[in-house]
Amino acid sequence: MAKQRLDRILAEMGVGSRRDIKKMARSGLIEVDGRVVRDPSLHIDPGEQVLCVAGQPVHYQRLHYWMMNKPPGVVSAVIDPRHRTVIDLLDESDRTPHLFPAGRLDIDTEGFVLITDDGQLAHAILSPKRHVSKTYRATVQGRISDADIAAFAQGLILRDGYRALPAHLQILNAGERSEVEIVLREGKFHQIKRMFAALGKPVLYLKRVAIGGVQLDPSLPPGGYRALADDEIARLR
Ligand code: URA
Repeated sequence: MAKQRLDRILAEMGVGSRRDIKKMARSGLIEVDGRVVRDPSLHIDPGEQVLCVAGQPVHYQRLHYWMMNKPPGVVSAVIDPRHRTVIDLLDESDRTPHLFPAGRLDIDTEGFVLITDDGQLAHAILSPKRHVSKTYRATVQGRISDADIAAFAQGLILRDGYRALPAHLQILNAGERSEVEIVLREGKFHQIKRMFAALGKPVLYLKRVAIGGVQLDPSLPPGGYRALADDEIARLR
């Protein structure tokens, strides 16, 4: 296996951010083959060398993080008997075991799906306790009023009686069909469609454009994907 920077390897394994790892190294907490390494930029072969953090051995497992621009007609699942899945859209060489989409978009919704084999990160993004924001662009039938914006901000009551958490609604383009941006801090089933249904304004088009502080790369075509950069992964943790 090719040699890589120590801080990068440990960050990929979820030990901490690169900054955390730098601090740990400076404090003498990191050992490689039984020797304390204080330089986080040291290049090592994680497949061959033994790594210990705070006296505990850590076993190298490379994790994967793909940002995909899901096209409509594709399901956010690992396998599906009828439809193509986001995993099917990965090149064969990228289709490593244990990948799954961290969160679901409806079959007709487009946009940012994070595909990973890092269960910890997926949990952090999806945990209802952490309220990681998800940003969407939508086209809805009808004119959005200030009252609609206020209702989103207060916490809309859906038709089934559920009170949604306060959400941010912004008009991008007003008209008989309105283009809007929505920022949610929860992800219930069909949430945005149900929120606009409660206002009597059906959603015509929906795309997720950001998860937490990470924007969908606008250069990705529908069905396109790329690896997340280290700083993007760090922003999601
Ligand atoms: N809200 C919806 O209604 N659908 C999605 O796919 C995502 C959010």
